[in-house]
Amino acid sequence: MDHKGLLREGVFGWVWAADCDYRPRDFEIEVHNRLDEEHYTKTLLHELWHVYQHVKGALRDKHGKRLWKGIDHSETDYEDQPWEQQAHHMEDVLYEEYLNLPKPRVFPNRLIKQ
Ligand SMILES: [Zn+2]
Repeated sequence: MDHKGLLREGVFGWVWAADCDYRPRDFEIEVHNRLDEEHYTKTLLHELWHVYQHVKGALRDKHGKRLWKGIDHSETDYEDQPWEQQAHHMEDVLYEEYLNLPKPRVFPNRLIKQ
C-alpha cells in the first residue's frame, strides 16, 4: 500500500501500512518538511484520514488490489478514487476545526516556525 497525498502543487505526503496490507494497525506517515503550517497540517490530516479509512476497514489492500467498501478500485484514476475525494474533503473540514482550537494551537512540529 502506498498513498500519495497529492495536492495541486505536488506530492506532499505519504502513508503506508508497516505491518500488513489486509488489516493494518501499524502505519507510517511521511510529510514533506518544507511546507507552511496550513499545508503541513492539511497534509498530515489527509494522511491520518487514510489511516482512519484503513482501520475502519473501508479501504483495504488485498492480493494487490485496492478495495473501497468491498469494490475493486485498482484501476480508478487518482482524482476519482473515493477515498481520496473523502480525504481531500476531510482535510479541509478538520483543518477548520484545528483553526478553531484555542490558541496557542500546539502542534508538535519543530520544522514550523512559531
Ligand atoms: Zn490521499
